Amino acid sequence: MNLMDKLYLNRFVPDNESHLKIKDPKICKEKCDAKYCTYICPAGVYSWDKESERIMIAYEGCVECGTCKYGCLFNNIEWRYPRGGFGVSYKFG
Ligand code: SF4
Ligand code: SF4
Repeated sequence: MNLMDKLYLNRFVPDNESHLKIKDPKICKEKCDAKYCTYICPAGVYSWDKESERIMIAYEGCVECGTCKYGCLFNNIEWRYPRGGFGVSYKFG
């Protein structure tokens, strides 16, 4: 079973507002050449939009692992869990 198959087992109840926010988009644009968040997130939540020169956040697919909270070397992600009743549910076994 590959990663995408495993992710497909999860169930999501997306909130209508993001629980993940970029604190300062200028830091992403001007200081962070590597764009770490775009490859450390196991669910592919972050992507760099060349046109708007901003990080896009597909928060609905977040598996709440916390990697991005520590993996952004600029501490530029405001991270919290989704509100109660929203977010990911795991199916084990
Ligand atoms: S790793 Fe942090 S600073 Fe870099 S693009 Fe992502 S959120 Fe912005
Ligand atoms: S908490 Fe994990 S799954 Fe959610 S955005 Fe951060 S790295 Fe991706």
